[in-house]
Amino acid sequence: MSSAESLTKVELPSDQNAGGRTLGHEELALVQDALESGTLTSTKGQFVKRLESEFAMRHGAQHCYASSSGSAALHVAFAAVDPEPGDEIITTPITDMGGLTPILFQGAIPVFADVDYRTCNVTADTIEARLSERTKAIVVTHLFGNPCDMGPIMELARSRSLPVIEDCAQAFEATYGDQRVGTLGDIGCFSLQQGKHITTGEGGLTITSDDEFARRIFLFVNKAWGYGDPKPDHYFLALNYRMNELTGAVAAAQLGKLDQSVAARIEMADLLTSKISDIDGVETPHINPHATHTYWKYCLTIDPTVIEGGAVGLAGKLKELGVFSAPRYIQKPAFECQVFAEQRTFGNSRFPFTEARPEAVNYDRSLFPGAYEGLERILVLPWNERYTAEHVTFIANAIRSCCHS
Ligand SMILES: *Cc1c(COP(=O)(O)O)cnc(C)c1O
Repeated sequence: MSSAESLTKVELPSDQNAGGRTLGHEELALVQDALESGTLTSTKGQFVKRLESEFAMRHGAQHCYASSSGSAALHVAFAAVDPEPGDEIITTPITDMGGLTPILFQGAIPVFADVDYRTCNVTADTIEARLSERTKAIVVTHLFGNPCDMGPIMELARSRSLPVIEDCAQAFEATYGDQRVGTLGDIGCFSLQQGKHITTGEGGLTITSDDEFARRIFLFVNKAWGYGDPKPDHYFLALNYRMNELTGAVAAAQLGKLDQSVAARIEMADLLTSKISDIDGVETPHINPHATHTYWKYCLTIDPTVIEGGAVGLAGKLKELGVFSAPRYIQKPAFECQVFAEQRTFGNSRFPFTEARPEAVNYDRSLFPGAYEGLERILVLPWNERYTAEHVTFIANAIRSCCHS
């Protein structure tokens, strides 16, 4: 590699605008159909229904419900398992807050399991360490598109008869064994937010093959109104989380582009891996042999004893060459955020933390060695389906020149 090659800056496409997205005439045509139909609510329209049936079908799931965001798609899952106040839902401290606060809204306590520092994913062992008689469900988050090791996790969950909710917001089409994520556990949740594999700006999808969970999800999205029942009523506390038809139209068109988006992300990620895997101190993604990673982001693990300044130092050097990267991904484990650290919830009540076992809200640093080490070491590269070999070559050359200087 010549130094000139490494210094020629290439503009990388961004998922925050058209450059890194696949929105086009297919979406426009369906939005126009939706508008001309004059029906923009999914209770009467066809687009959201079509999206739901296509998304369920591609996963081999019995049911799919669309909602207004990924956070909503997760909230409906927590509502489906119907925790008692103070019941515990085991989850990860390295995730989007939208995967956590809905647990509190349902009166339950997120109990944080540590993660494997190599993937920042929870494992059967870290989950088992946090189980209690109050555990109601387990959430697994397939971070960056890299599946958790689901075999041992499902074995543990089944042995305790605990439902597993998969947060697949970052992991569309990722697989474990011969199954897509979202279908290994009991409920799978997806996000259509601007920066995900496919997007409607905001939106969510929840799949399940459990009829009882499905019934509660359907109701929770619809203010618990029993549409279609002989004597409908508002059966329990719930919200309007429906997706509208305009969003449904965009989502239906985007769904047709999902395979292509995933294939492009994987192809370019594999290319980057092949170009940088020999660099000392820079670990490429650690992927379970049973799994396929679908690269929402491309996450490196940096060894600070080899790379000067560790992930932060490397990010600074990359930035000078025009390559943006995010050390840490999130600045701190979720439990260090005020909502958990200071228990800021409903007025001054601190509910539902008032119902929690003390062990469930113990956030002592010593319980999370993997999370702290993982955050210290990770360096997250933005990724999207518009990356080409030219972009990837530029990124690889930049990383190599920063690591050898
Ligand atoms: C994006 C995301 C969410 C929340 O989705 P929104 O659509 O932003 O509400 C939840 N969990 C994970 C892992 C995410 O990446």
